[in-house]
Amino acid sequence: MRVLVVEDDPMIGRSVQQGLRQDGYAVDWLRDGQAAESTLATTPYDILLLDLGLPGKSGFDVLAGLRRSGNSVPVLVITARDAVADRVRGLDGGADDYIVKPFDLDELAARMRAVLRRRAGRAEPTIEHGDLRMNPLRHELTRNGQPVALSAREFALLQALLEQPGVPLSRARLEERLYGWGEEVESNAVEVHIHALRRKLGAERIKNIRGVGYLVPRIR
Ligand code: CA
Repeated sequence: MRVLVVEDDPMIGRSVQQGLRQDGYAVDWLRDGQAAESTLATTPYDILLLDLGLPGKSGFDVLAGLRRSGNSVPVLVITARDAVADRVRGLDGGADDYIVKPFDLDELAARMRAVLRRRAGRAEPTIEHGDLRMNPLRHELTRNGQPVALSAREFALLQALLEQPGVPLSRARLEERLYGWGEEVESNAVEVHIHALRRKLGAERIKNIRGVGYLVPRIR
């Protein structure tokens, strides 16, 4: 799950980025509205955490521009305490929800999940593949109904593969799903996680096409 955080307060930005990374999200962090706008125009995100008071371009303007251009990325607005008018304006401007500073990381994560759940409709989305059933929102995987324990990165990697069965994903594409910008990519991290997934799910589950990438076979 790829998250963009736009927040000019370095303490908040850093702690949100670190906290969410620990939860297994790939998190990019920008500090001004203009940069956010150009990045959002070219990079797909699963959710945007948007501060309203930003240098360059306000969060309101970024949000308005997004919605005007037809970008429907879920947006969680970050507002100051007592700024009721801002919250209303944010929601009216197309935000999905808001969170008030200072906030707890657990609350932020819960609100993000709630936004994503609401966006996905009432039914929780599951991805099925043979005897596997994955619930990305709950971070759960079962095989024949039995829970399989995966690390956050193993889960993210498997999710990327299961979303497009039969389509090989290169190591670079998979690394993109696992890491935000500037986050140090451990060399052969993808291979290590693939190895762990094969051990847990069976070697035949994930195929390697030499020089191309990895895929889960399509099931007929
Ligand atoms: Ca700010």
